[in-house]
Amino acid sequence: MAGIKMTHAFDKKGVKWAADNYAKGMGTAPLKCERCDATVIHVNSFTRDCYDNPSKVRAFFRLQANGAHGPNCRFGVDKQIVELASTSEGLVESVQKNRFRMRLIAVTEELKATARRLKEDDGGERTPTTSKSYTPSSNRLSSYINTAQRVLRLRAMCDEDADIEEHLELVFAGNTVGWNQFYFDHARQMEAHYAVSKSSTQYPIAVQGRVGKIKRGVKDDPKLNVLNLERLRVTQDPNETTNGISLEVSVWAIKASWFDGLTENDEVIIFGLWKAPTPAQTKATKEGLFKTFTNRRLTLTLAVKSQIAKV
Ligand SMILES: [Zn+2]
Repeated sequence: MAGIKMTHAFDKKGVKWAADNYAKGMGTAPLKCERCDATVIHVNSFTRDCYDNPSKVRAFFRLQANGAHGPNCRFGVDKQIVELASTSEGLVESVQKNRFRMRLIAVTEELKATARRLKEDDGGERTPTTSKSYTPSSNRLSSYINTAQRVLRLRAMCDEDADIEEHLELVFAGNTVGWNQFYFDHARQMEAHYAVSKSSTQYPIAVQGRVGKIKRGVKDDPKLNVLNLERLRVTQDPNETTNGISLEVSVWAIKASWFDGLTENDEVIIFGLWKAPTPAQTKATKEGLFKTFTNRRLTLTLAVKSQIAKV
C-alpha cells in the first residue's frame, strides 16, 4: 500500500524536505513521514500525456512497500475513512474494524429523485410553495454527494485504487463494484465511457479530468449551460486504422452559476449518473492520419452543483 501522497518528509537528521526540491540521495536516509515514524520514498514529477497539451504531475513522497502510517497519522487512509464515515449520514457504514462500505444505491435514489423534481419544477406544474416540501430530499442528496466527493478526493490523493479498496468497499444493489469501475482518472475516461455504455444498471461513477470550455446560455436558453472537459488525444480505431476515436465529456447544468469558480485547466472530479449517447461518425475536414472520426460522448446533467469538485 502506498497510501496518500505527501508533499514533505523528514530525513534521519530531522531536516525537512519538499518533494518538489528533493532528488535521490539528498539528506540522510531513511526518509520519514512528516507526522509519524513510517519510512517514505520519493517519486519524481512526471508528465501526464493523455492530452494533446501534456501537463506535469508534481513530485511526492509515498509509503515504502508494505509500510503503514501510525494509528493516528493523518496520512493513513484508514484514519481518513473512519473520520469520513462518522459524518456521512449513513452513506458510509462500518462493516468491521478498519473496513467500511459505501452504499451507492442510496446516492442513486437521491440523484434520481432530485432529477425528477427538477423536471417537474421546470414544467411549471408545481407552485413554489409545494416545491419547498422536497427540500429535505435535496439536503440529503447534498450531504451524500459531499461524502462521496470526500471519498473521491481521498482516492485522488492516493497512489492507486488498492490503497483505498483495502478499507472501503463499494456496494450497489447488493453487488460489490470494483474501484476501477467507479473511479476513472484522466487517462481512463474512455474506459468510463465503455463502463457506462455497456452497463445494464445505472450506478453513479466518477470521472476525473481538466476543465476545458464552459458555455453559458447555449442557444440563448439560460437553462442550457455546458462544461466540457479537455479532450483526450484522439486514438486509432483498432479495427479500422484510418478511423480516429474521440471522446467528449460534457456536464450540463440548469443554472449558469453552478459553473462559477471553475476555470479552464482546473482539475475536477465529476460524480453522478452518466449517459453515453450513440456515437456519431464524421468525415475528417483536414488531411491527416484519420479520414473519419467516431465521436463518443459521455454526458451528465447536474442535480446539485457539488457533483463537480475541484481536486
Ligand atoms: Zn504517517
